Amino acid sequence: MPEKSVEKIKCLIIGSGPAGYTAAIYAARANLFPVLYTGKEPGGQLTITNDVENYPGYPDGIMGPQMMEDFKNQAIRFGTDIRYELIEKVDFSATPHKIWSETGHEIHADAVIIATGASAKWLGLESEQKLMNKGVSACAVCDGFFFKGQEVAIVGAGDTAAEEATYLAKLCKKVHLLVRRNEMRASKIMQERVMKTANLEVHWNTVTEEILGEDGVEGVRIKNTETGKTEILTVTGFFVAIGHKPSTDLFEGWIDMDENKYIKALPGRTFTNVDGVFVCGDAQDHIYRQAVTAAGTGCMAALDAERYLSDKGII
Ligand code: NDP
Repeated sequence: MPEKSVEKIKCLIIGSGPAGYTAAIYAARANLFPVLYTGKEPGGQLTITNDVENYPGYPDGIMGPQMMEDFKNQAIRFGTDIRYELIEKVDFSATPHKIWSETGHEIHADAVIIATGASAKWLGLESEQKLMNKGVSACAVCDGFFFKGQEVAIVGAGDTAAEEATYLAKLCKKVHLLVRRNEMRASKIMQERVMKTANLEVHWNTVTEEILGEDGVEGVRIKNTETGKTEILTVTGFFVAIGHKPSTDLFEGWIDMDENKYIKALPGRTFTNVDGVFVCGDAQDHIYRQAVTAAGTGCMAALDAERYLSDKGII
C-alpha cells in the first residue's frame, strides 16, 4: 500500500461562511496560498437564509446562497484551493499544526484560521428528533415551501424566529409563533412585522411540550406557563428558531473556549491562546453574529496570520 503523504501548507482555513471566504480572499492576495475546507455545509448559515438586506454593497438585497457563491468565486479568483470536505481531527500541540480531513488526508499548516461558524439549536424533545425532516425543521427558508397553504408552528423569539415566521406567513395558511416569555428579543422592526402579519398568531408565555405525529407532524401540544393550560395546535410543520451553537467541538481540549464553547480570541484581535491559530466569525462571536462582522473578522484573521508568518520568517 502506498504511504500516505503529508501535505505541507502555509495557511489552512476551516469553514466556508463569510468569515472563511473573506479570510481566503485576503490570504490568497497576500500569497499565503490558502487551502480552505468547506465543512459539511458549504457556504455556511447564509445558504439557509433568504434575503440579505443589510450587507453593504447590495442596495437591492441579495439571496444568501447567491451571496456566498459570490464570496466563493472571489476567493477562487485569487487562487484559494477550495476542498468540499470536513476536517475531522486536529493536533495543535506543536507548530506546524497537524490537521486531518475526513478522508484521512494529513496536513501540516503553519497558520490555521478557524471559521467554522455556528449551527441551529434544538429544543431537545424526543419527538423533535423522531420527526426531524418529517415536518420538523430548523430552516424555514429551506423547508417552508413544503408547507405551502398549510398551518405551521415556529418556536423562538429572536430575529431569526421573527424573520422566519413572517417568511412562513407568506407561504402558509396560518403560522403560530411560540414565545416562551411575555416579550420577544427580536429587534423592534422585526417585531412590528410580526405584529402586522394577519395570519401570524403569537402565543406568549408558551412552551412546547410535545410534537405530535408518528411519520409526520400532526400537531403540537403547548402549555401556557402563566395559566398552566395545555392546548393542541393542529399543524403539519414545526420550525425551531431558538439560536445557534458554535461549531467548535473539533477543537475541544486544544484551544481556550468560553462556557458556551465559543473560541476565545484576544480582545480586538483574532489570536487564540495557541500560537499560529486564529479565529474569526461566529465561532468566536455570540454578540454580533452578522455576515458583515463575520467577514470583517475573517479579514482580520488573514492579516493577523500574515503578520504572524512574516514575524516567524515563514514568508
Ligand atoms: P437569539 O439568541 O437572538 O434568540 C433565540 C431566541 O430563542 C430567544 O428569544 C430565546 O428566548 C428563544 N429560545 C431559546 N431557547 C428556547 C427554548 N428552549 N424554547 C423556546 N424558546 C427558546 O437567536 P437568533 O437566531 O434569533 O439570532 C441570533 C443573532 O442573529 C442575533 O444577534 C440576531 O439579532 C441576529 N439576526 C439578525 C437578522 C437580521 O438582521 N436580518 C436575522 C436573524 C438573526 P428568550 O428571549 O426567552 O431567551
